[in-house]
Amino acid sequence: MIRTHARPWIGAVLGLWLAQPAPPAVGGEAAAAAAAVPTTGAPAPSDAATAASTLAPAPRVSSPRLYVLDCGTLVYNRPEDYNLKREEVRDSNMGVTCYLVVHPKGLLLFDTGLNDRLVGRPLYENVLEGYGQIKFNTLSGQLADIGVTPASIGYLVLSHFHWDHVGNAGDFARSTWLVYDGDRAEMFSAAARATPWFGQYAALEAAKTVRLRGDYDVFGDGTVMVIATPGHTPGHCSLLVRLRNTGPVVLSGDLYHYAEERELDRMPDEEKTTGTAESRRKVEELLRRQGAQLWIGHSMAFFRSVRKSPAWYD
Ligand SMILES: [Zn+2]
Repeated sequence: MIRTHARPWIGAVLGLWLAQPAPPAVGGEAAAAAAAVPTTGAPAPSDAATAASTLAPAPRVSSPRLYVLDCGTLVYNRPEDYNLKREEVRDSNMGVTCYLVVHPKGLLLFDTGLNDRLVGRPLYENVLEGYGQIKFNTLSGQLADIGVTPASIGYLVLSHFHWDHVGNAGDFARSTWLVYDGDRAEMFSAAARATPWFGQYAALEAAKTVRLRGDYDVFGDGTVMVIATPGHTPGHCSLLVRLRNTGPVVLSGDLYHYAEERELDRMPDEEKTTGTAESRRKVEELLRRQGAQLWIGHSMAFFRSVRKSPAWYD
């Protein structure tokens, strides 16, 4: 089901319930119908007012805030591809996580997940490279729920260019794209242009782009750092976010997929010579030095338990 933004009516529905001493059992449809004809004195909103009020107020912060967005789930049962036996992996499916960082100086989106067109579509239509894709909420809808439009996002960072991370990236072509050359070159290669998902990020080719070398301090105060972690792809990166109450957190992209890769020291064969081992050592050292948490976006244990938007971490 495509998420709708009926937030203005929620108050009206609550108002009706509160205004009636013995509210009848009202189902969703009846409640919506009742809300559409306000009888409790609330003025009927004009079309313009309705349009303006469908967007929640944009978040204002004095220190970084981190939202975790549900960008889909991959149904998958081949952990052997990651050099793990089935009995070694508690859950071989994968969550797909996007993150919004709200910093006093601007907004940064880290990854864009599975494409929004998947919402409401059956699993059998969308099995790609052995991964079944399902999605319940659009990224754009989850952002709208917290008052954020694509136009308000200053920076876009993709952990890497694989299709489960770039699904809606074209929506953010007005942002400044922070990217490593290794990944950008792959994204606009002849082979990539021929893939069915090229159109999902093609608009980034003309986006304002900052080509990164090494780690990058996005806002100049050390609270949001792009960490170069090549290996899974040539330009793969992670994101360090220093949060006032939660403490520092490293969003590791696909440096690991399963927590068991980290526990058992495994990685896909094809990554053994591409730099993943070095990048993992770099991040583990960073975690020790900073006392930081590692958030593995594809880990189902993480995905299941993490607080998701509209809640946040700060
Ligand atoms: Zn991935």
